[in-house]
Amino acid sequence: MNPIEKLSKIFGNFPGIGPRQARRFVYFLLNDRRGVAEELRESLAQLKEKVDRCKFCGRFFATEQKKKICAICADPARDESTLLVVARDFDLEAIEKSGTYRGRYFVIGGSIPLLSETPTKFIRSRELLAEVERLLKKGLKEVILAMNASPEGENTAAYLEKILKKLLSHDLKITTLGRGLSSGMELEYADPLTIRAAIAGRQSQI
Ligand SMILES: [Zn+2]
Repeated sequence: MNPIEKLSKIFGNFPGIGPRQARRFVYFLLNDRRGVAEELRESLAQLKEKVDRCKFCGRFFATEQKKKICAICADPARDESTLLVVARDFDLEAIEKSGTYRGRYFVIGGSIPLLSETPTKFIRSRELLAEVERLLKKGLKEVILAMNASPEGENTAAYLEKILKKLLSHDLKITTLGRGLSSGMELEYADPLTIRAAIAGRQSQI
């Protein structure tokens, strides 16, 4: 495959980018005289060197000193009795920006497509269970499932509920975000007030 085709194919795999747009990106880089391609190369190298996945919550964070735990998980002021589970890092960022939630997070890394027979391929469910077990020892009382209000989001929440119910010998409550999030709403785009209402209106699943 020639280099133009190859890079177009890579850009084409990005979310929301079609083949035409992907090709435009490549020609943009070829035509650019400001050094964007070089910056991109450096930036990509830094992503690998200076960004890590938090050992506890699974989110990506920039770290100079090769720390293993992110600032949220390392903050002793955060409430350890609630764990809020989101699909992606930017959902966590949206909730964090709303300033409503003071507990712990977990990023499962995606959502499960409808009718999937291999749910574990799409989300970090084993890691989630390990983190729930770890926090149970520290007084975890509630797991909040904050998935998008989409069919995939609901499918994912149903699966998580099923696997979390196995831990119910512990005194653990499972809740989902309230209907403040309208159907089809993505957390990423929800405004702080909506997020606040959804967290306040969360509903128990058990
Ligand atoms: Zn963390």
